[in-house]
Amino acid sequence: ATPAATMVGTTIGAQHGVLFKGGDILERARDVDTVVFDKTGTLTEGEMELTDVVALDDEGNPRGTGGAAADGGVVTERERHSEDDILRLAAAAESGSEHPLARAIVDGAQQRGLDVPEPENFENVPGHGIRATVGDSDVLVGNRKLLADEGIDPSPAEETMERLEREGKTAMLVAIDGALAGVVADADTVKQGAKEAVAALRERGVDVMMITGDNERTARAVAEAVGIDPENVRAEVLPDEKSDAVEAIQRDGRKAMMVGDGVNDAPALAVAHVGTAIGSGTDVAIEAADVTLMRSDPGDVVKAIRISDATLQKIK
Ligand code: ADP
Ligand code: MG
Repeated sequence: ATPAATMVGTTIGAQHGVLFKGGDILERARDVDTVVFDKTGTLTEGEMELTDVVALDDEGNPRGTGGAAADGGVVTERERHSEDDILRLAAAAESGSEHPLARAIVDGAQQRGLDVPEPENFENVPGHGIRATVGDSDVLVGNRKLLADEGIDPSPAEETMERLEREGKTAMLVAIDGALAGVVADADTVKQGAKEAVAALRERGVDVMMITGDNERTARAVAEAVGIDPENVRAEVLPDEKSDAVEAIQRDGRKAMMVGDGVNDAPALAVAHVGTAIGSGTDVAIEAADVTLMRSDPGDVVKAIRISDATLQKIK
């Protein structure tokens, strides 16, 4: 392309809030045959809200109405924790984390009028959850793997977890002093325009995929809501494995555009044929990317490819 054509394309992009880092990127975007979306904060708002708190009894059944008492048995209160107890400790553990899942748990606890103490210490386990000491309680909040790695069997909560995940929520296990105590769940909303973006890309013959650290069931529920095929979902991908996943997709000669917002998306943005950052995302992602979508609208992915097309057609 001539410098004049790419300059026009870059300017038109900027007018639409699509910032190309250079003329070569503008030329590359039209060759994209696969778009890989990150889930949280890219296809979804990334503004989680606490939706559920479930206290489990010794058998893993939700306590409270129904549960053990409904079977005629007496609920043994011993060291079982109430919903408020679980939420208070989970929120305390999460109060040191900046993760959107963590923020939602802390806000949810405060909105319910719970007094959230400071954790004595906490440790982030990337892609899995958090480990903390709150008062004299050891608290774990996270996925199945987090608990399993500590020798705590997460399976009694499976039915509750699956129910919440089928609703597209991110369900997290809470263990207190080495025992499974309950489940908390956060929900996110799909961005307006996400579904239309996927449809427009597919219309163009572009394969659309989704990649996420979240679990398979939640990922599929979100994929279904935006029109991404279940076989195009890569779930439970660890933060440092996202770039490997993009490389694997590109191995057979595909030209992928990775679209993401998070720190953990940065390496994947860098290895993709075109890396596209969501404008509301982290600086690290924007820095690693070739294109930034200032309006944070996934629909602007289509615009980026179209502008590339139009610019290069004119100069042929
Ligand atoms: P994403 O790719 O959606 O941003 P992450 O890789 O950060 O997800 O996390 C993957 C999974 O690990 C989450 O879905 C959750 O189950 C668990 N997890 C991560 N961080 C936390 C946290 N602070 N509290 C609870 N669970 C967490
Ligand atoms: Mg994200």
